[in-house]
Amino acid sequence: MFVSVGARFEANVEALNMVETAGNYSKHRRVPYIVEDKGAIKIIYVPAVSGESIAHAFQELLAEEAAAENQKVCRKCARGEFLKSMDEENAAEKFEDKKTPSVAEEIEKGIVKNCTVEDVGGFLYAGKPPVKRTSSFQVSYALPIKKMAVYSTVEPQLHARHAIIAKVEEKKREVGTAAEQMLYYVETGTAIYAFTLNIDLKAIGISAITGNLLISEDEVKARRRSTIRSLARMLSSGQFGAKLSRFLPLGGIISLVASVTEKPFTITSPIYDGFEDNTMKRLEKIAREFNEEYRYFVMGREGLDTPEHVMTQLLQYLKSRDIV
Ligand SMILES: [Zn+2]
Repeated sequence: MFVSVGARFEANVEALNMVETAGNYSKHRRVPYIVEDKGAIKIIYVPAVSGESIAHAFQELLAEEAAAENQKVCRKCARGEFLKSMDEENAAEKFEDKKTPSVAEEIEKGIVKNCTVEDVGGFLYAGKPPVKRTSSFQVSYALPIKKMAVYSTVEPQLHARHAIIAKVEEKKREVGTAAEQMLYYVETGTAIYAFTLNIDLKAIGISAITGNLLISEDEVKARRRSTIRSLARMLSSGQFGAKLSRFLPLGGIISLVASVTEKPFTITSPIYDGFEDNTMKRLEKIAREFNEEYRYFVMGREGLDTPEHVMTQLLQYLKSRDIV
């Protein structure tokens, strides 16, 4: 089963993805973006949140969710440090004698068995032999929706950080030194963003090398359930991106769709208006031509008023199909 989710969210004054700091100036990520303006195609630069950033948050929530359900998560993934099994040292804890074997199938099996996050999110072991496991989920950048891309903004906001000066030093100090008051700028973005996230549920718990099942059927279902639950948690809580402690974006999810198909299918990109209906048309066509079953959930339709409604309906459907 393949799950494809598309979301639009409004974010006013966000600093979700900062890319560099030059002196006291932190820059927001910007990307080139195609827009049509007065009949001409143009490239403009717009604020963006990277797929890496969203994937990091998703995997952090997955680590929590899986651990809470007594599924295995390795120590580093549990701490949100996704070095994963990149080398012998980081892979070692997944094997009984703390020694990484030298057969690719055994390496993959040990890692997948002992870490839900690396099973679902993949890893790249650069030892001998190298072993690669592709992530079972794919996520796009979050980009402003087409209709308002030209109005999306990045604006630096001025802030001051004050330091307490010890009394003894107070007489000696010069007024306005950097130690007392540090001025800094943070670029903040404002836009309606959209992103797509796909999950290939069939890949979870299955060897990418042999296609064999590496954990029990029950464990596979539990891991799939945790994966969907962590996605629901991420959408519901808005816990992704950086600087949430002081730049928690104001806004929230304004559109959400989720499709479940037997084979890979990606919903129409939510950067386009009408993506809900367009996805529907495509799904109907695929179902007819390929004789496949599908389910489609749209926020705002059939009583699905909130993102939580959509995600719980999705989970219930997967449960009814014995997938989770
Ligand atoms: Zn891990």
